[in-house]
Amino acid sequence: MSQAEREVVIVGGGPAGAAAALFLRQQGVDVLLLEAARFPRDKICGEGVSPEAWRLLRAMGAAEDVARLAPRPLRGMRVIAPDGTVFEGVYRRGGETLTGFAVRRTRLDATLLDAARRAGAEVREGARVAEAVRSAGGVTGVRMQDGESIRARFVLGCDGRWGACARAVGGLRGSRFFRRFALRLHLEGVAGLGSVGEMHVGRGGYCGIAPLSDTSANVAFVLDASAFAAAAGRLEDFARETLAQRFPAVAARCRDAKWLGPPRAIGPLAVSVPRRALPGLLLLGDAAGFYDPFTGEGVTLALRSAELAVGPVVDALHGRVSSAAAAARYEREYAGATRDKFRLNRLLQWVVAWPAVANAVARRLRARPRTCDELVGIAGDFVPARRALGPRFLLQLLQPGA
Ligand SMILES: Cc1cc2nc3c(=O)[nH]c(=O)nc-3n(C[C@H](O)[C@H](O)[C@H](O)COP(=O)(O)OP(=O)(O)OC[C@H]3O[C@@H](n4cnc5c(N)ncnc54)[C@H](O)[C@@H]3O)c2cc1C
Repeated sequence: MSQAEREVVIVGGGPAGAAAALFLRQQGVDVLLLEAARFPRDKICGEGVSPEAWRLLRAMGAAEDVARLAPRPLRGMRVIAPDGTVFEGVYRRGGETLTGFAVRRTRLDATLLDAARRAGAEVREGARVAEAVRSAGGVTGVRMQDGESIRARFVLGCDGRWGACARAVGGLRGSRFFRRFALRLHLEGVAGLGSVGEMHVGRGGYCGIAPLSDTSANVAFVLDASAFAAAAGRLEDFARETLAQRFPAVAARCRDAKWLGPPRAIGPLAVSVPRRALPGLLLLGDAAGFYDPFTGEGVTLALRSAELAVGPVVDALHGRVSSAAAAARYEREYAGATRDKFRLNRLLQWVVAWPAVANAVARRLRARPRTCDELVGIAGDFVPARRALGPRFLLQLLQPGA
């Protein structure tokens, strides 16, 4: 069955899809959002969200809804190197202190999708898209798994890592050299939780702790795929063994904790797309590519990509630019907004992979609180990542500590 053409069809109702719906509804655009799952749905994530997300939530009109969830405020990040060296940075911009937050994704994502619905987007849950439909000129709509076709002037692919929409741009691929998996736990009764996110760098990977309350936390570790071979059919034992062997300081703090559900694992994490837009199709959030969650920008980037998409889409819908020009603008602006942070993330992966380097960098940073704040501000998405890639930052690291 074919239907009347919609202005915008959004595929996926995670943070990217809900944000795109909210931004577009502010401009009066007709939005149909198709979500395969029924909410609240779980998403494997570290659940620590950077301060910049508050700006985007306010712009979307969803900040008050999220504040009502009473998310755990995060005032910075603590990094623990393999030899136990600790450095900590505070989210600070000039004299102003900022906060990020931690909250269960089941709650955050359901809240954002509800906000999109209330803003007038038509939301269909349990609606799985099989593919974006291509013609010579670009993408003209979607075909549902049940065979229904829906025509649209724009399709926004917000369907996450390895999403169906990204197949329309061709060449979706995982990294040959960087194959990592993640495992996530929710625990009650974790000792020593504070108001910062924690990143423990250990043998072959890292483990993040996001405090969700004074006593409960999201504990998630990321390791090379080869390490996960031992997880097949025994995820719970694997989780316990890995924490004990690779992250003993974390294991000690979780010794008496109650598991709030079984562990969940996913991978391979890294996926890249050759382009993020075609005439009639823009890829947002994780659908536009994913590398590694170490610098924790995923949710904020999902919201930011929606903010970047809305201008080009609305201009094209009003006939001010062609669909091809809108796609090219989104591609350009997305690359500009992410290039430096992605470079830094790759650099940090290299540091994390070499314990001796990670220890040396951590010792340097521990003696330089201002540099720590700057680095954490970059992870928090409100300090431009190019600062950490320039010579001034490297010099700061090399100079004797203050
Ligand atoms: C281990 C791990 C830890 C992470 N930690 C953090 C962190 O601490 N902080 C942070 O900000 N980010 C983190 N991230 C990244 C973050 O989870 C993602 O970047 C974020 O979820 C991206 O949002 P999204 O809306 O693009 O995709 P998703 O949240 O994946 O949403 C995609 C939606 O599309 C739907 N969908 C999929 N296919 C279809 C289809 N064919 N038809 C219809 N609907 C479909 C799905 O059901 C889903 O609801 C982490 C990621 C991982 C893997």
